[in-house]
Amino acid sequence: MPPTERPASDIPFERLFPQLDDSGRERLTAAARALDLRRSLDDPARWFWNEPDPADPQPEPEAQPHVLGTALLLYESDGDWLELGLDVWHQEGPRVSVTATVEVACWCELDHNMHAVQRAEWTADGGQALVEAFNAAALSVIRRIEGPRDPRDLRTRAGLPNPPEPVPDPDDGSPVDGGMAPSRHTP
Ligand SMILES: [Zn+2]
Repeated sequence: MPPTERPASDIPFERLFPQLDDSGRERLTAAARALDLRRSLDDPARWFWNEPDPADPQPEPEAQPHVLGTALLLYESDGDWLELGLDVWHQEGPRVSVTATVEVACWCELDHNMHAVQRAEWTADGGQALVEAFNAAALSVIRRIEGPRDPRDLRTRAGLPNPPEPVPDPDDGSPVDGGMAPSRHTP
């Protein structure tokens, strides 16, 4: 089943997390909506999830399958970007983990697409713990919205390469387009 990209109000919490009771679901929905409310106007709400499909079990499930996630775009310019991520992953048995990440564009010669330069993780064994982990991760994302937005600084601090500096043109103030967006893999 392909991931979906929809607003928080569409997340099927009852199918993704059957261990939650009504109040737990309501609290997760509220936390997810709180994130959507803090997006900038040009950043549409997009949550993606992978519903378990009993009719089509994966032959070799991933070790830590992705359950639910979203990204908030804080910076985007000339192919460079910075996003905040919140994701829920299945762990062993009933355990899940919730991660909050700061992600920046990759400018390595080999295109990795993205680097998580900051990452915090909360693990949870049951419904109540999941609600607390999700709330803690959502709060940390919300607080981080006010943090630094320059992906260059964050890449430098993480020891990652940056794109070349644009060469200013003294005759006109328009940005130089040197085709410097990271190359995309094309089939
Ligand atoms: Zn890279």
